[in-house]
Amino acid sequence: MDEAIKVVGRTCAYTNHTILAEALEKWPLEYLEQVVPQLIPYIKELDKRVRAKYRSPKVQIIDKEKRVHMAHIDIHYGFSVNGVAAIHTEILKNTELNAFYKIYPEKFNNKTNGITFRRWLLSCNRELADMLFEVIGDSYTRDANDLEKLLDYIDNEKVLTSIEEIKRFKKRELVRYIKEKEGIDIDPDSIFDIQSKRLHEYKRQQMNALYIIHKYLEIKGGKKPVRPVTFMFGAKAAPAYIIAQDIIHLLLCLQEIVNNDPDVSPYMKVLMVENYNVSYAEKMIPACDISEQISLASKEASGTGNMKFMLNGAITLGTADGANVEIAELVGEDNIFIFGVSSDEVIAHYAKADYVSRDYYKKSKVIKEAVDFITSPQVVKVGKKERLQRLQKEILNKDWFMTLIDLEEYIEVKDKALAAFEDREKWRRMMLTNIAKAGFFSSDRTIEEYNRDIWHLTRID
Ligand SMILES: *Cc1c(COP(=O)(O)O)cnc(C)c1O
Repeated sequence: MDEAIKVVGRTCAYTNHTILAEALEKWPLEYLEQVVPQLIPYIKELDKRVRAKYRSPKVQIIDKEKRVHMAHIDIHYGFSVNGVAAIHTEILKNTELNAFYKIYPEKFNNKTNGITFRRWLLSCNRELADMLFEVIGDSYTRDANDLEKLLDYIDNEKVLTSIEEIKRFKKRELVRYIKEKEGIDIDPDSIFDIQSKRLHEYKRQQMNALYIIHKYLEIKGGKKPVRPVTFMFGAKAAPAYIIAQDIIHLLLCLQEIVNNDPDVSPYMKVLMVENYNVSYAEKMIPACDISEQISLASKEASGTGNMKFMLNGAITLGTADGANVEIAELVGEDNIFIFGVSSDEVIAHYAKADYVSRDYYKKSKVIKEAVDFITSPQVVKVGKKERLQRLQKEILNKDWFMTLIDLEEYIEVKDKALAAFEDREKWRRMMLTNIAKAGFFSSDRTIEEYNRDIWHLTRID
């Protein structure tokens, strides 16, 4: 056992990808006794050695309810613990894994996630890749940091125009694909506002839906936007996740109501694509103007969709969460739209258990109107009453991921982002800056850091 623990301590490292309780595996010892009886003596021995050294119940492997905490084994016996974005690693150190950080500060390190530029630029957006090649050469395909050379062209009319034209071309391509796949007509000259990612309450697609309701009611009331906007969603959910289904249901109801309302559809459309997957993402992301990254602060460990959109010249509308924080630091506050409460505020609300969604509903006319609309006769007519009522109740009585805490500021900042699109000179520069600063998010950089600090593999030159 001593020898085995030594080997593990020199070879095994732990990466934490999320702090959502549902993903941190804790299995009753009696289940493990059924399924892997041969492991029980080892689990008990590992637990015994921890107990002999540390008294805090927070770091035990087998807790008082006789559940085995998988990650705790990894943290005690591995040599490295890392998070996947700077803010996420700080939350691990200061909150979620603080008891472990106090014992093993030297094990903790950050490795901000990355994406493969081969897929998310060179393959999915040839037009942009070729234009970049002509302007800054091909070195960026080997060292993504060389994308920064593009910053020299921030005042170059020709380069700015090509970035804009490539975006228009990719929007037209997506419009054609959507027509073929979904049979729906999208205006290629509308603003493409896209939220595509797994469906989960912490990612807050329901907050986006409430914005859409608000916008719909505004247009019905005579406040017409200067330019049409298309709100697009791509998402899949675990089959047993009922509230996720209810959110999808609401989005599909809104799609039906908005797109078929002659007062409103010239100004806005809603579309949830069917069977969102990587192939669909490769078509949606290059066509996006506004990238929705609106998770409740502290909950999105990193996100990678945010990086893909940025690399393709979309402007992020997001919370100070996951890698959004690092995107904001890189591009500067003029080239991103950040809103919402901080992760510290959110963590304090959970600690005090003092978030009451109904208080926000009662205090704000705008919030009340949007939430009430979910079960209005107009929506119930096109949808399923049971699903709509269940979702509304969830938002008003529970709202574990605090949809309503940020809704008013979200509406304000999203309207600002949509208005900013009209200043074409400024928007084109924002696009260029986002592309130029995306190099940090190449997975080549991430993998190099894992190798340098954790894997220590032989260099292959
Ligand atoms: C990148 C990607 C994701 C992850 O997106 P997030 O916004 O980071 O959650 C999910 N699904 C597909 C198909 C993707 O390409």
